[in-house]
Amino acid sequence: MVRVRFAPSPTGQLHIGGARTALFNYLFAKKHNGKFILRIEDTDLERSREEWAEGIMRSLRWLGIEWDEGPDIGGEFGPYFQSQRKDIYMEYINKLLEEGKAYYCFCSQEEIEKEREIAKQNKVSYKYSKKCRNISLEEAKRRIKNGEKAVVRIKAPQDGVTVVHDIIRGDVEFSNDQLDDFIILKSDGNPTYNFVCVVDDYFMKISHVIRAEEHLSNTPKQLIIYQALNLTPPQFAHVPMILAPDRSKLSKRHGATSVEEFFENGYLKEAIVNYLLLLGWSPGEDRTIIGLDEAIEKFELEKVSKNAAIYDINKLTWINGHYLKEIHIEDLYERMKYFYSKKGIEIERFDKEYVKSALKLVREKVKTLVEVVDASTYFFDDSYEYDQKGVEKYLTPENLNIVKSLSDELKNLEPFSAPEIESLVRKKAESLNVKAANIIHTIRVCISGRTVTPGLFEMMEVLGKKEVVKRIERTCE
Ligand code: GLU
Repeated sequence: MVRVRFAPSPTGQLHIGGARTALFNYLFAKKHNGKFILRIEDTDLERSREEWAEGIMRSLRWLGIEWDEGPDIGGEFGPYFQSQRKDIYMEYINKLLEEGKAYYCFCSQEEIEKEREIAKQNKVSYKYSKKCRNISLEEAKRRIKNGEKAVVRIKAPQDGVTVVHDIIRGDVEFSNDQLDDFIILKSDGNPTYNFVCVVDDYFMKISHVIRAEEHLSNTPKQLIIYQALNLTPPQFAHVPMILAPDRSKLSKRHGATSVEEFFENGYLKEAIVNYLLLLGWSPGEDRTIIGLDEAIEKFELEKVSKNAAIYDINKLTWINGHYLKEIHIEDLYERMKYFYSKKGIEIERFDKEYVKSALKLVREKVKTLVEVVDASTYFFDDSYEYDQKGVEKYLTPENLNIVKSLSDELKNLEPFSAPEIESLVRKKAESLNVKAANIIHTIRVCISGRTVTPGLFEMMEVLGKKEVVKRIERTCE
């Protein structure tokens, strides 16, 4: 049975890198009729916050990445907050201590610093001297009882190699002489990430650990813990990093990086999921648009790239524009409420069909929900300002005269539909021997204040006769 997990640390919003890892795990689970587990790695009590955990869960759900077991829904192998699993970890730390596979280390910060300094002077990489390896458990326990502080270190192998069999990268070898007797329990009584990760992955029956490449260097350490505990490790796959266009680490200075920010900036979940799918994986045939269902069918871990994926906001925005035109208009209406209300526009106050017609027109021209709002405010608010260039260029006395006389004819036009309006405008232009474009641009400025809008005749039809005539007459006064 395939069982995979996404194990975020709740120290911030869900980053797109994390969302991509979650998504690949989700696809793999779905493809193999397996289970996708959410585990919150909140052992770093200082940096972890419940609000972040909730935010991460909200973002995942918003994207449609639902888990089968997790903190809020429970499951057979819970609890799914690491902070609630301490007893389990301590049991296995004690087991390793009893079996002599781990030991208490009493070296102080200063002593460790000194060792580090010497290593630096000798230009070798620092490794703990293993000074406390030979302190017996009895003596160690006595010293702890007497109030001494200690960490617990694992006895790591000192020669040979540890091989990580990675589904994406093949075998990756790590020389054991690079390994330290690393710490598995800190002096504050909290076990370290590598240790709790192993215990949880094993006891949650995780079959495949699919995680970010930055954890590859942790994997040999985790394999050593599996070995010490006599447990069979899962399979591993490390998905490639996501870099900024300049190949630097993706950070705030590259703009939005969290799912929540993308939501606020008017990106659609469909577009984000589609874009994330392409970061390190491809459905082949140079395809850009792919939905979740098809991705589940086609996804293969073996086909995930080893190379870093380059984050490209323009591509994401392009994909967003695609889905913006595709989603059901009713759905778009619902999603737009939030974005309008952020700008003080309550679209519920308008006739729903009117709003939907405006949305249909506007969405053809823009790429995000925020842009939909900006491009459509004049449909909901007639106190717009006139674009200065538009005023100078089009609102000339001559043009205003023409549109004023046209507005009288518009009053009698039935039906007030785009084709009828167009033919009226064109006839008018012909009869006066002026360019139709001139009249069109002038009306546009009159009824929207803008020089760029969706097609004028469609827009007039949506605004309706009364509003159009009112706006033209008001401008001509
Ligand atoms: N808590 C780790 C992180 O957020 C996850 C590591 C793992 O997947 O093993 O990076």
